[in-house]
Amino acid sequence: MRVNPANWQVFKDPEGSVQLIRRLVLENASQYASRYFLAFICMALVAGSTAASAWIMKDVINQVFVNRDAFMIYVTAGVVMMIFTVKGASTFGQMVILSRIGNAIIADCQRRLFQRITEQDLSYFDRTALGDLSTRVQHNTTAARNVLEMLVITLGRDILTIIGLVGVMIVQNPAMSAFAILIMPPAIIGVSVLVRRVRKHAKSQFVSTTHILSTLQETAIGIRIVKAFGMEDHMRARMNTAVADVEHRSNKIASLTARTSPLMETLGGFAIALVILYGGYSVVNLDQDPGAFFAFITALLLAYEPAKRLARLHVNLNNNLVGVRLMYELIDDVPELTDKPDAAELVVRGGEIRFDNVRFSYGESAALNGLTMVAEPGKTTALVGASGAGKSTVFSLIERFYEPDSGDISIDGQNTGDVSVASLRAHIAVVTQDTFLFDMSIRDNIALGRSGASDAEIEQAARDANAHDFIMDLPGGYDAPAGEGGGRLSGGQRQRVAIARAMLRDAPILLLDEATSALDAESETKVQAALTRLMEGRTTLVIAHRLATVRHADAIHVLDRGRLVESGTHDSLYAQDGIYRRLCELQFQDGNSKPDETERQSPVSKPAAE
Ligand code: ADP
Repeated sequence: MRVNPANWQVFKDPEGSVQLIRRLVLENASQYASRYFLAFICMALVAGSTAASAWIMKDVINQVFVNRDAFMIYVTAGVVMMIFTVKGASTFGQMVILSRIGNAIIADCQRRLFQRITEQDLSYFDRTALGDLSTRVQHNTTAARNVLEMLVITLGRDILTIIGLVGVMIVQNPAMSAFAILIMPPAIIGVSVLVRRVRKHAKSQFVSTTHILSTLQETAIGIRIVKAFGMEDHMRARMNTAVADVEHRSNKIASLTARTSPLMETLGGFAIALVILYGGYSVVNLDQDPGAFFAFITALLLAYEPAKRLARLHVNLNNNLVGVRLMYELIDDVPELTDKPDAAELVVRGGEIRFDNVRFSYGESAALNGLTMVAEPGKTTALVGASGAGKSTVFSLIERFYEPDSGDISIDGQNTGDVSVASLRAHIAVVTQDTFLFDMSIRDNIALGRSGASDAEIEQAARDANAHDFIMDLPGGYDAPAGEGGGRLSGGQRQRVAIARAMLRDAPILLLDEATSALDAESETKVQAALTRLMEGRTTLVIAHRLATVRHADAIHVLDRGRLVESGTHDSLYAQDGIYRRLCELQFQDGNSKPDETERQSPVSKPAAE
């Protein structure tokens, strides 16, 4: 999946920084008001002690050096010690408090983002790359923390410090203070030029970071294909491009950020030089107080670091605000498919599923083209048809992963769009081709079928699914880890875990997508027996690949390009000279037991054992 930044809302509104910060503060920072207040007290102490350390220079010079007062040496040394102890302790307090708030903000944003991601419907995941999601959850939440922290530290500590020091400067020598203020306009202009350029690079950096993650993910998931088709070099090239771009952008951002230093150093040096010229002249020729001059110079030098940070703030802030925007973009992406306000709970009596003239397309081309069909309650209905005919789409629509473009889908007369999604899905159990197992124990994987199931119920479900014996042979039994994606189990074993999950769910409606991958004869028999048990008494809709299933089905619906073209039992359909018969004949020809595999030729399970 490729990311197209041109579509992102975020880049169309590059100037809403103030609103963005306001929202960030209201949503994320306001709940920490009391802790922020404590941090501010610490910062005020830091600022106060810094100003005091400049102030005391006057006495150091005048009392100690000019007046040679021995007693005052001890007094000023003691006071200096005190000032710096206060400064150290309050810096410590401020750092600890702010870090804790910062970490809480990251955690909070990550929770909100994941909540939103899990609310999204399938079409969202169809159009969103995983790299994009990971970047937003990992990096962009940190950006939110950085922005708030920068604001607090700068507004709190640096601005207070500068105010304190400028106060000292003005009291000591108002005329000389004017020189220091002279450098402000060129500093502001220089910084805003840098800001614009940083913003541009920050966006590109984000895009390339998502490409790194996407490439990594595609390589890991598709490693077999990557190796089999010798795509390593291709993937490396993709990765290299993205990595090189991130490197390039990071360097650019770093050098633009660093450029605030020479800018401020030059301007600062200029101001200090002016002060020395004027102040020195006043002391030497006009016999002014040297202590006041030193206090002034000290205040100016001390004000210089926070002023530099203030200049960098704007650049860093904008760099991080790009991340904050991307985070909010995800949070604000409201899912399209939600319950109606008056959604009822689905009540299943028999479990009849009815499609009435349903049309649906994923994008341009139609997947269902006016499909009308019924799955009788308590019976097994097989869906067959060439691949791409729309069978999986039927499943997705029953589960309401997508909204049909037109037409009705109902269960026992209740439109699936009118009932709550949760109650709909609670009545459906699904067993798919590629059973996905989560990286937790086998027991927990089965327990996903029904929350709150007891160990005894889980074990019974596993027995019914012919899974108990192989689970007991695993080291750790039910507590054995399934491995990421279920990688530690064979295909047949994974299927039986999925069947156990569905057994436990005990839902009246069963959607079954038979495995196309080859299972050995023993596994096949066990899986088949478990499925037969599972299907008993439930409305079962099965995407059938095995002739055995098709023959046993109460009804067979043949789909072709999103429509129902034939319908009946195996015998009645075979007697017609139609699509179904051709599918069967094709299968017999190559000893293939899968009626729908007209396109894909794969090594397949044994022919139907009948
Ligand atoms: P079947 O299960 O019979 O093989 P599907 O229901 O998967 O068929 O697909 C029906 C049509 O919809 C096909 O043309 C397929 O390419 C398209 N399609 C399926 N899933 C998606 C998707 N997530 N995004 C876009 N097109 C899709």
